[in-house]
Amino acid sequence: MSKVYDVIVVGGGINGSSIAFHLAKRGYKVTVIEQGKIAGKASGAAAGILGAQTELTEDGPLFQLARQSRAMFPDIINELEELSGVQIGYQSRGVYKVASTENHAQKLKTLVHLQTNAGEKAEWLNIEELKRRESAISNTLLGAMYIPEDGQVQAYEFSLAFARAAMTLGAEFYEYTSVHDFLIKDEKVQGVQTSQGDLLSDSVIVAAGAWSSLLLEKTGLTLPVFPVKGECFSVISQKQLVKATIFSDDCYIVPKKSGRLIVGATVKPNTFDEKVSFGGISALMEKAIRLLPDIANAEWVNAWAGIRPISGDGLPFLGEHPNYKQLYIATGHFRNGILLAPVTGKLIADYIDGNRLDIKSFDLSRINSKFTSI
Ligand code: FAD
Repeated sequence: MSKVYDVIVVGGGINGSSIAFHLAKRGYKVTVIEQGKIAGKASGAAAGILGAQTELTEDGPLFQLARQSRAMFPDIINELEELSGVQIGYQSRGVYKVASTENHAQKLKTLVHLQTNAGEKAEWLNIEELKRRESAISNTLLGAMYIPEDGQVQAYEFSLAFARAAMTLGAEFYEYTSVHDFLIKDEKVQGVQTSQGDLLSDSVIVAAGAWSSLLLEKTGLTLPVFPVKGECFSVISQKQLVKATIFSDDCYIVPKKSGRLIVGATVKPNTFDEKVSFGGISALMEKAIRLLPDIANAEWVNAWAGIRPISGDGLPFLGEHPNYKQLYIATGHFRNGILLAPVTGKLIADYIDGNRLDIKSFDLSRINSKFTSI
């Protein structure tokens, strides 16, 4: 006999797990269907930067969403660590967004001005001040925009914590189970067909990352969400090289609590290939040495790749399927899915509760012919 749930979530990445956590907390009977392992795709590959002001610079709905999500961190970290027993490695030491040319320095100074006028904390540091705070940083840099409130987490642990906390609150997770299609009757979703049989539910949420469009083709929807591969590597240094994240336009270095440094990330559009390329990693190595020369003496740990989901207009899709009731979509978070996971789970749970106001800018009504492949 088919199992019956209030909500089925497709995808056990950070967004699916955050949605399950928020729904389970509100008393919904929820299950997550994951074709591989929990956080085995983009969510486990991420560097974990919470770059609300680092990555998103222009004011608008996404900047507001990112700030809303960042503000949720201290409380949600405590709650998840307590419920899950997983240590997330949250750090709020800020980000140095560095400049290596006069032109870039000027742009960052303007950004400092814009963001402080918008009520955010940011300051420009010249190279002397930057080196006073981070002495190992390259002398060739001109300075940095310091963003004190952009922190970081260990992305895999954060994703796992959402999943384990959701389980503690009663959610079920099926790993190594694929969703093949949707059960639909009278223009309303009834459940999903999986590799383990049919599961019934009042609502279904597709949070399948870069694979969401492939699955949603079954419903006749062409969702403009595309894969963008990213590669990273990590090293470990006996000596502490940096205290906070160093972020340049084409490379970042993120110091983890364990003493490991994550260096990322390449950007390779339109591929689901998760192999790590020699060219990608060697280019990152050169860039990292230019930022932090002593990193050349650190010990090699590993390299990996993940597939980010990007939408045609850069905004995530959070909303209901245009043709089928109670079939919802939450994907397209691109480089900010770790940062946006807390607010994504909350807004989708609000949506299921019937409160759709906060999510209007991200709904699916904006799909039209202006979307193209990147
Ligand atoms: P995913 O984590 O990809 O999860 C989707 C899940 O759905 C997968 O586990 C997949 O197996 C499953 N699935 C797919 N199809 C099906 C199906 N048919 N049936 C069942 N299951 C299915 N973001 C930040 O905020 N900060 C960072 O520093 C950062 N760094 C990054 C670095 C790299 C190298 C990469 C690749 C990404 C980075 N990101 C970062 C982006 C972030 O990782 C993503 O935006 C986020 O993980 C997306 O989460 P998700 O849950 O939507 O997708």
